[in-house]
Amino acid sequence: SLIVHELCVSIGGRQVVSGVSFEVSDGERVGIIGESGSGKSLTALAILGLLPAEAEVGGSILFNGRELVGCSDRELAAIRGDQIGIVFQEPQTALSPLIRLGKQMTESLRIHYTLSRTQAKDAAVELARRVGLPDPESIVRSYPHEVSGGQRQRAAIAAAIAAGPELLIADEPTTALDVTVQKGVLELFRELSDETGSSLVFITHDLAVLKQIADRMIVLDDGAVVESGTVDAVLSNPQHPSTRALVAAAL
Ligand code: ATP
Ligand code: MG
Repeated sequence: SLIVHELCVSIGGRQVVSGVSFEVSDGERVGIIGESGSGKSLTALAILGLLPAEAEVGGSILFNGRELVGCSDRELAAIRGDQIGIVFQEPQTALSPLIRLGKQMTESLRIHYTLSRTQAKDAAVELARRVGLPDPESIVRSYPHEVSGGQRQRAAIAAAIAAGPELLIADEPTTALDVTVQKGVLELFRELSDETGSSLVFITHDLAVLKQIADRMIVLDDGAVVESGTVDAVLSNPQHPSTRALVAAAL
């Protein structure tokens, strides 16, 4: 489970996350929504230990009972590799242009386990199949630029789930994709979290997307949680003006 308690992040003397608290139980899908600049990405980066070096962090982030705030970079990198997976908006952020997709998909496996070449290749093909990439045998030999944007995002998702993380954090993973491709990728997130039982923190600014993926939701406004609850409860009776604005915009 993930328990974020009174998380604060300041950068350059400006507080950009101000006392954010929420919990994600095992297997739960939580959507984080909010306007641009509301602190969604910084909250995710704090959990991942990927904040800019000059950021000051306060509060507590308990992941399976372990405090992540103040953990060393090395410990955080290890947790990131095999217990927490991350998917960003732009698959380019996670994928190197110069390395074949199959190798990138199995990067975290190769760090945590000793794999022979054949095992690594088999694992890559299996991952490509799981995330619905066409022609898995040949796509694992492709470079990122040789496949479509939606396929790149699927490959980035494969890399994120390779080591079987308990928690997957997705920061606007469908925003850069066109609508039909978005649908497929959302469906994939849902299937994967059903199949693996892993928890999902799904960040979006799009209420229609959130509704399709999340059980519970958190609304951020100017670095603070202004509303949270089950998606049904929040949307049937939105209290805060920024939640109401989101609901109105989605009609
Ligand atoms: P978006 O929907 O546009 O992705 P967001 O909710 O993810 O927005 P964050 O990226 O978390 O917003 O940013 C929250 C605030 O922190 C913003 O005001 C932003 O300008 C500021 N901020 C983010 N990253 C940095 C950084 N590296 N240095 C300084 N300020 C930053
Ligand atoms: Mg963001």
